[in-house]
Amino acid sequence: MKIKCDFCKTEYNTDSLTSGVVKCAVCGHTWTVVRPTRKNSLLMFFASLCALLSAIIFTVAVITHHQAKNAVRGPLVASVSGVNTTTDEGGQTRIVVTGTIENISGDIYGVPDLIIVSADEKGRVLTQQKFMPSATLLDAGGVVKFSHVLSPQPAGVKKISAHLADLQIPQKDKK
Ligand SMILES: [Zn+2]
Repeated sequence: MKIKCDFCKTEYNTDSLTSGVVKCAVCGHTWTVVRPTRKNSLLMFFASLCALLSAIIFTVAVITHHQAKNAVRGPLVASVSGVNTTTDEGGQTRIVVTGTIENISGDIYGVPDLIIVSADEKGRVLTQQKFMPSATLLDAGGVVKFSHVLSPQPAGVKKISAHLADLQIPQKDKK
């Protein structure tokens, strides 16, 4: 089977590889090789369709774990690992959100802005705050941590979630 580097177009011959992440020896680009077989070609079609869709629709993970498991997973997944409070110089309690953005795909992705959404116990969005994470490019399988101090929050915040900026926040939550 012949595989070709997406980036520099160098061709390689391989018999052993079934599928997986390969790294180009010439330019260092990594990408995922999927060996098609007749049996799963339909499956591969759907997988590539999903990959295309998820490249367009960036995904969320929500702090509540049962929701995080059910969230549609895109190439980049933002998840909140900790919600703490700190007190600033003015004596105001501020929420500090920490978490990670993980690239679960085999490609390099640029990291979009993160939107931290605070919601009340019924899931209604109280505030949304956007900030730029430190990494701008995330290698295949790479993880970047973030930590962000929220501006003063209204009372009643029960849920903090991290969304990648390309994702639309459902409007029905905003009533
Ligand atoms: Zn290459």
